[in-house]
Amino acid sequence: MNFDNFNLHSSIMAGVRLAGYSVPTPIQLQAIPMIAQGRDLIGLAQTGTGKTAAFVLPILEHLRSGPRENVQALIISPTRELAEQTCKVVSDLGCDTGLQCISIYGGVNIDQQVRRLYRTPEIVVACPGRLIDHLWKGTINLSGLKILVIDEADRMFDMGFFPDIRRILGCILHKRQTLLFSATMPTSIKRLVREILHDPITVQIDRALPAKTISHTLYPVPQHLKTHLLKGILDKIKTDSVLVFTRTKYRAERLSRQLLRSHYRVASLQGDLSQNQRQAAIAGFRNGSIKILVATDIAARGIDVLSISHVINYDMPESTDDYIHRIGRTGRIDKNGDALTFVTNADSDKINALERILDTPLERQTLKGFNYSQTAPDRGVNVSYRPRRRLMKKQRVAMEYAS
Ligand code: AMP
Repeated sequence: MNFDNFNLHSSIMAGVRLAGYSVPTPIQLQAIPMIAQGRDLIGLAQTGTGKTAAFVLPILEHLRSGPRENVQALIISPTRELAEQTCKVVSDLGCDTGLQCISIYGGVNIDQQVRRLYRTPEIVVACPGRLIDHLWKGTINLSGLKILVIDEADRMFDMGFFPDIRRILGCILHKRQTLLFSATMPTSIKRLVREILHDPITVQIDRALPAKTISHTLYPVPQHLKTHLLKGILDKIKTDSVLVFTRTKYRAERLSRQLLRSHYRVASLQGDLSQNQRQAAIAGFRNGSIKILVATDIAARGIDVLSISHVINYDMPESTDDYIHRIGRTGRIDKNGDALTFVTNADSDKINALERILDTPLERQTLKGFNYSQTAPDRGVNVSYRPRRRLMKKQRVAMEYAS
């Protein structure tokens, strides 16, 4: 089976070829024909499965020959990064169709977005908050909307976006095709599905399991030696691009500064950065000038960098879902990837849950030559880093020490 079987127009096939896709992924095989028939669809698929193209290709096919006025397709995304990434996929795959796509999200000047919306793009990828701003201002017209996509619905729920989503849905009451993608299907999302999808078909790919191309290893380590161990691993193990996850924004910033001082090519990606800083970090990571990106879960959504060879969980993720999302950044589409997770004694419940989900005991490893009995001179916190917002940060430091 190849892309010819979908009967996509030659202008769209040109985009598929340009993207270098030769064989459809399982989610694409199942979802594209259903979406092309106009069915509402629930896509249960983890990131890295090719789910974006699974909805973008039939959207392009549907809109290709239609009227070029008003917004025809709206894709709602949880984060700016994912919105940008999705918009790029639309623009790349649709490069020969003449269809226009823009992304809209907060943290950047709204007037510029208003000007771009005046040019009536057919496809908009939006984060909920800023989309509501545009709806209230009357700068986006959704009266001609034909297809609505809610992407990464479980993540949007986790981020507290559901009230916003409901407000947005209240503005699009006319008949339309609705597609909802989610890695997991908790009750909250089932309820939303019942409310807004009509006779949906469910397409499920490897339900909530990581790609088989990823190897999982646990590195037991005392909390205060995590930074030392990370440096040891970065020095000893051959890596390409490395994505490191921390539990909090503060820890991401602190760790990236510590690595920077040790001359690693590193940047942080966390919610306190400006949009320009975030874009610079992602661009540097993508073009290889930055080898290590230290990120929080939310900031890392939508990072699509094929050269990520290692995901390192500096802090154990809160849930198995988060683990799967994190490591979905490596091993994308049949590339091999390694997921390394630093674990402390406090993580034993989370490890059990993870082993249950993965249905296998996870390998515990120690780094050869690493002194696990050393006491950390700075207890993992660099004292020379003086936070700008002192009081708040002092409190956080106190919390970090306590944890
Ligand atoms: P996604 O799950 O949509 O985030 O896609 C993950 C990665 O897979 C992206 O880098 C896509 O460009 C890539 N991809 C999507 N579909 C295919 C395909 N049929 N063949 C090869 N790579 C693909």
